Amino acid sequence: MIVSVASGKGGTGKTLVATSLALSLSDQTKVQLLDCDVEEPNTHIFLDIKEGQSSPALLLIPHIDEDKCTHCGVCAEVCAYNAIAALPKKVLVFPELCHGCGACSYLCPESAITEEGKEIGIIRQGSSRNISLVEGELTLGEVAAPTVIREVKRHIDTAGEVIIDASPGTSCPVIEAIKDSDFCLLVTEPTPFGLNDLSLAVEMTRKLGIPAGVIINRAGEGDQLIEQYCQEQDIPILLRIPLDRNIAVLYSKGIPLVEGMPDWRRNFLQLFHRLKEMLPTTEVSR
Ligand code: SF4
Ligand code: SF4
Repeated sequence: MIVSVASGKGGTGKTLVATSLALSLSDQTKVQLLDCDVEEPNTHIFLDIKEGQSSPALLLIPHIDEDKCTHCGVCAEVCAYNAIAALPKKVLVFPELCHGCGACSYLCPESAITEEGKEIGIIRQGSSRNISLVEGELTLGEVAAPTVIREVKRHIDTAGEVIIDASPGTSCPVIEAIKDSDFCLLVTEPTPFGLNDLSLAVEMTRKLGIPAGVIINRAGEGDQLIEQYCQEQDIPILLRIPLDRNIAVLYSKGIPLVEGMPDWRRNFLQLFHRLKEMLPTTEVSR
């Protein structure tokens, strides 16, 4: 099963949930944790990772063969990102706008476009006991986060359970990270800001046809805001992590919740088994 962990805004406890779920499951089965928060990958901080291979993440930029090009303009027409301009006698490529989608080279009638790899990030692999971690990191100043996320996801191995830590928000990188998941856990906090961003995240999962459930982090005062919304939207609240000083202290020290407070393992395992039970019905609705 592929479970993604997302949140409409940053700082809600997404990584706390992803790492706690991974560690809890790792007592029983092989777990793969994919850190797709490529602008700020930090799951490794919570895990005692033994580093393995690393490889560059490449963005494929078009290169025009002027001898073959007839200046037909097809490449500029199909580029959704205005990364190519076809002038009467020259085709210009703007690498900083290119998303490496490959449409121009695929559709060029003269096969005048080849692709050249530009390094825009790094993919690191490592392991910790029964957990294998794949982490992507976008180079500072680069913008094509979805390309790095796609590279991370190329390593998906569904022989075990797969957990994806997505970036916060509801933009392209999050969509790239969570699409194809069997279930998406949406982590929120019980504040009006949390609710606003949760509603955007719920809309996103619905558009993608991914079943979703909510985890309230720092639960306590204000929970009824989220509860009322979830009831109206028919979305299950799957777990509440209380606003607790001890949890905050563990987090600030980089100690996973389920390591510092082992009783929480049971809660995360129950959460996972509940997801499994829910899937047959939710998958029908997909
Ligand atoms: S589609 Fe190919 S032939 Fe047409 S302008 Fe672009 S590079 Fe040249
Ligand atoms: S690879 Fe895609 S984004 Fe880049 S120039 Fe070609 S069509 Fe545009």
